[in-house]
Amino acid sequence: MLPTHALVGLALATPVALVVPELAPAALLGGLVGGILPDLDLYVGHRRTLHYPEYFSIGAIGATALAVFVPTAPTVATACLLLGAAVHSVMDVFGGGLELRPWEATSDRAVYDHRRSEWLAPRRWVRYDGAPEDLLLSVVVAVPLLLALDGVFRWGVVSALVVAAVYTAVRRLLPSVATRLVDHSLVQALPDRLLARVPARYSGGHGLS
Ligand SMILES: [Zn+2]
Repeated sequence: MLPTHALVGLALATPVALVVPELAPAALLGGLVGGILPDLDLYVGHRRTLHYPEYFSIGAIGATALAVFVPTAPTVATACLLLGAAVHSVMDVFGGGLELRPWEATSDRAVYDHRRSEWLAPRRWVRYDGAPEDLLLSVVVAVPLLLALDGVFRWGVVSALVVAAVYTAVRRLLPSVATRLVDHSLVQALPDRLLARVPARYSGGHGLS
């Protein structure tokens, strides 16, 4: 889930922040943005449009090399951003699939592999986003961050934990809520042009694309 990705992005940048304190804000902001960035494609080709397991990884290696030789705020931020986005894109392969109720494990699509032009299958080490083991992962990553970070980034960690706990608590209710909303409210309220943009998995068989 997104809070776990945000925390992992911060965790990847934290060693840099500890070793080079003057570049800590750039590193941490880069890692945080990189951890979140891929999921901005949630409603536009989710896990395909902004998920690049290989290309982000290649970019991260190049950007890290540059940041080591030219350690400035922009190079360090870019390296941490690409590293966060790469790890996010790879991590999603080890979660659930793209189905509306991922705990049913019916989808064979986890993340799109742009190089091979095919979907990678979900490994389901974490069964679905918002599963108890996902929350546990968030907590395990957050504890050292709470000890290592302070100021706004520590508050960011606390906020991510709160969101993670609430999301985990309501995760299994969300598909019914979303389907009901789309079926009973949006279908009447939205013009066709906007309705066509609602992902089919929420439409309950209304033929929306
Ligand atoms: Zn993702």
